[in-house]
Amino acid sequence: MQSQKKHPRAFSFEFFPPKTPEGMEKLRATWKQLAQLKPKFFSCTYGAGGSTRDRTLETVLEIGSAGHTAAPHISCVGATRADIAATLDLYKAKGIRHIVALRGDLPSGAASAGDLRYANELVAFIRERTGDHFNVEFACYPEFHPQARNPLDDLRNFKRKLDAGANSAITQYFFNADSYFRFVEDCEALGITVPIVPGIMPIGNFSQLARFSDACGAEIPRWLRLKLQSFGDDLASIRSLGLDVVTELCDRLLSAGAPGLHFYTMNQAELTSTIWQRLGI
Ligand code: FAD
Repeated sequence: MQSQKKHPRAFSFEFFPPKTPEGMEKLRATWKQLAQLKPKFFSCTYGAGGSTRDRTLETVLEIGSAGHTAAPHISCVGATRADIAATLDLYKAKGIRHIVALRGDLPSGAASAGDLRYANELVAFIRERTGDHFNVEFACYPEFHPQARNPLDDLRNFKRKLDAGANSAITQYFFNADSYFRFVEDCEALGITVPIVPGIMPIGNFSQLARFSDACGAEIPRWLRLKLQSFGDDLASIRSLGLDVVTELCDRLLSAGAPGLHFYTMNQAELTSTIWQRLGI
């Protein structure tokens, strides 16, 4: 963890772009509440093929106009080079300097994978088109990406994104701190020393969490899965155990030298704020 301890801590909060005016109103209350915690930046996800481009941009611009740093995500799956260039030009024209670059996942039934196959190609394209304009964050996987051929291959693919010019990494969420510590050690062995910020998923709903986790390859430890499942519809018990588990995880990560935390807020302030208060950040 030596490589991580030297970085200043950075905290960030991720949202998804709401589909309705009511959702936007709710998100407004959420980001305003979380802004009081003074994160380094907020980020907003981006639908495959640019399906949320306008709403992602709208969300980011609204947060940015209140004086906060807000980073839109951008993904390459299902997009042509021309689509991606247009999005980058738009972000640049709006004064955005911080982005999160991803491959994305092809929706089932989608016709084409797009011009760029992997996120390292997207990062290279961003640098080719916009030079050093953007601070580029990218994704990594302490428990390995579900499509990776093997852990070493995934690690090498992680390094390709850095070699293409990305600046720092945010992990997929995980509940097992050791997977992160091991991952950082493996990165150090390959000479990777950029910040690797743990992605944190507060637990508010078991069925949704189980669905996400199955899809993205994040393991819910058996004991935790069974306990959460046994609570059924009792949301208060799910949240109470979830808060204990996730706060303890964050505490372990920060104590060991993690360079901050990136919260997948699911557009809700309450769980993230409670974890934050309990950590005494
Ligand atoms: P890549 O780095 O391209 O990796 C994908 C797979 O391909 C991996 O298995 C990797 O090992 C392999 N691979 C990579 N490069 C090569 C190569 N050159 N040759 C062979 N194999 C290779 N999704 C969205 O749609 N929108 C979002 O806004 C979004 N935000 C996210 C934010 C974070 C912090 C994280 C962790 C994930 C996010 N995702 C988002 C999900 C992400 O798009 C998926 O996890 C996706 O499956 C992989 O994206 P990636 O950028 O890691 O892809």
